[in-house]
Amino acid sequence: MIARLFCCLSLIGSLSFASVLDAASNPGEPAPAREIRAFWNHSGTGAYPGDWERTAKELGMSGFNMILPNMLWGGAAHYPSTVVPQSGVYRRYGDQMEQCVEASHRHGLEVHVWKVCWNLGHLAPNEFVEELREKGRLQVSAEGKTGKWLCPSHPANVKLELQSLLEVARKYRVDGLHLDYIRYPDGNHCFCKECRRRFEKASGRRVENWPADCHSGDRREQYNAWRCEQITSFVATVAQKSRRVRPGIKISAAVFGFYPGCKKSIAQDWLAWAKEGYVDFLCPMNYTNNDKSFRSLVKNQIRLVEGRVPIYPGIGATSSHSALSPEQVLKQIGSAREEGAAGFTIFNLNEETAEKLVPALGQALEDKKEK
Ligand SMILES: [Zn+2]
Repeated sequence: MIARLFCCLSLIGSLSFASVLDAASNPGEPAPAREIRAFWNHSGTGAYPGDWERTAKELGMSGFNMILPNMLWGGAAHYPSTVVPQSGVYRRYGDQMEQCVEASHRHGLEVHVWKVCWNLGHLAPNEFVEELREKGRLQVSAEGKTGKWLCPSHPANVKLELQSLLEVARKYRVDGLHLDYIRYPDGNHCFCKECRRRFEKASGRRVENWPADCHSGDRREQYNAWRCEQITSFVATVAQKSRRVRPGIKISAAVFGFYPGCKKSIAQDWLAWAKEGYVDFLCPMNYTNNDKSFRSLVKNQIRLVEGRVPIYPGIGATSSHSALSPEQVLKQIGSAREEGAAGFTIFNLNEETAEKLVPALGQALEDKKEK
């Protein structure tokens, strides 16, 4: 491929970069009838803070039709929320949700609000976190260390997370709610006192050696199934209630690529969500520089869901696990198409990718369509 690219470059030096992209990294298969072309936006401000209009216009012009902006965390919202603390981004740039929805719809983009679940992250105010800590609502590791994630088995936490999502569905004309961190941090959580009590009640049996029996002993599988149930029941509740508040709203999730591995480690049973109809689409985070690995992940995901929901595989253009050139992104788009994916989701939209990657992809995908 590299040799072919250099050959192309030397022969057609005067052609645009995007045309070279298309010649060198042809996405292969034709696009599906209505291919979802999406971008995650981690900042929640679009590519240009304070200017959602420019972000939406540029994405629309380059053929993108969906944006997943990170507007909501466990302890922060980039809009005037009355459920969770308002962020510095909101105070500085105003209501990001309203600005995003208006501009995106004007330019033909669906808006699926990216919510970081459970994880209080770096944006939650200290006093908010401390209050939760005092009330025993944060996750505890098997070693007894309290972290900064809400415990998903605590009814007050479920209510808080749910209300924050329903507030969005009620107040804004969003197309969907996109759940991220919809899982435990790892296999080492949560082992708080209340998890023990609730698990004992649900299973009808006392745990003799806590947490050893559930962490690594003979009740490990049973405990993990119970952890999966905490996450799955939350997804089910979000789907049921938000669809009632805003009929037609789509529920989706950013999920780990390896299944069933993610079910065992982080209690994320996304296949069950697809089978039960709790989600309308899934975006597995298949972040890798290796095209073969990317393709094999997509193949497995498409095989597992058996057409129940579309898969828009996540492509890590700039992730912590991968860094892809526009040619490599195009190649993975081609692989996703060949494996039967109905679209793709690229991580991450920021000023740099908006200026370099978005127009290059737009041109290459457009060139392909015209042929
Ligand atoms: Zn717990």
